[in-house]
Amino acid sequence: MRRAHLKTGIALALRASGGARLVALVSGARRLPLVIGYHRVVADRPARVRSAIPPMLVSRRMLERHLDWIGRRFRFVSLDELGSRLESGEGLATPLAAVTFDDGYRDVYDHAFPLLARKGIPAAVFVVADWIGNPSPLPHDRLYLLLTRAWPTARDVLSRLGVLPPGSGTPRAPSDPFSALRLLLTTLSQAGIARVIAALEEQTAIDDGALEGLRPLAWEMLAEMRRAGITVGSHTRTHPVLTRETQPRVSAEIAGSRSALQARLGTPIDHFAYPDGAFDAEIVEAVAAAGYRFAYTTCRHRDPRHPLLTIPRRLLWENSCLDAAGRFSSAVASCLTHGVFDLARGCGQRHGAPVTARRDAPDA
Ligand SMILES: [Zn+2]
Ligand SMILES: [Zn+2]
Repeated sequence: MRRAHLKTGIALALRASGGARLVALVSGARRLPLVIGYHRVVADRPARVRSAIPPMLVSRRMLERHLDWIGRRFRFVSLDELGSRLESGEGLATPLAAVTFDDGYRDVYDHAFPLLARKGIPAAVFVVADWIGNPSPLPHDRLYLLLTRAWPTARDVLSRLGVLPPGSGTPRAPSDPFSALRLLLTTLSQAGIARVIAALEEQTAIDDGALEGLRPLAWEMLAEMRRAGITVGSHTRTHPVLTRETQPRVSAEIAGSRSALQARLGTPIDHFAYPDGAFDAEIVEAVAAAGYRFAYTTCRHRDPRHPLLTIPRRLLWENSCLDAAGRFSSAVASCLTHGVFDLARGCGQRHGAPVTARRDAPDA
């Protein structure tokens, strides 16, 4: 809630002192197109959706609101068009926006796909190749469910395992399941996460009902979306946070998902999204070596050697554009889409020596 107040304050201050022009000035007047990313899209109010990671949810209604707002200020383009404009440097004078969805949840087919079709908005879905049509949830969803079910016992179990800081007294001990999830995902490999899941499953069980909303797309749905013009990109085979994995695994995840999707869908896969937005110079090289033409992060840092493989993206969710009173705010949306809040908040990643922060760079 404190952040909501801060956001509203900045947004209103900017509006009072000159509005959109000043927002553009503060944000460095970037000419980079806006690429937005979502995860799950639900019919119900997200507060009522049990067991979901909150920043991964947007309701159908709020998604429509975001798209309508952006559509009045930007021209929606497909990732292919956006990519070729970035490549040539042409046609970037008009504000462009592209819509993407990560992971490949089934609810994107149920709720976003019809909305996008009705409005004629191009979009892309970045899928976890080995998860398509697979009945078990993604590791981070399973882990979050277990943490919420077994909290706060889960914290003690994981402290004893040495994967979380001890006890509740220390400043770094996570105070809630979501903070614990963030800490585990950014410090452990996928094998480590699997061990944590196994340890928590000795304490608690997940009911089938909780898994209901965490299903992936089926191959037929993905094929149907692709025929309707949705771009399919890769988001690895199994969704590891790549900065936590060995080089051979990184390559296998990046190259293997591209060939699996190409074989199954019979179309070139040119776009890649880094799970959790995590990348370093070696990972970017692996994306280049696998033959992807464009790749998308979740922050503003670029790799100067591969600017088209580090295209910034902004992840949005239900509460992204709300003011402190919980209402949709045009001022907050304006600051968000112009990257104003980025000035106050880093991405927290070290992307490796050759990568530099180029917040104010034009379109490198
Ligand atoms: Zn993801
Ligand atoms: Zn970054």
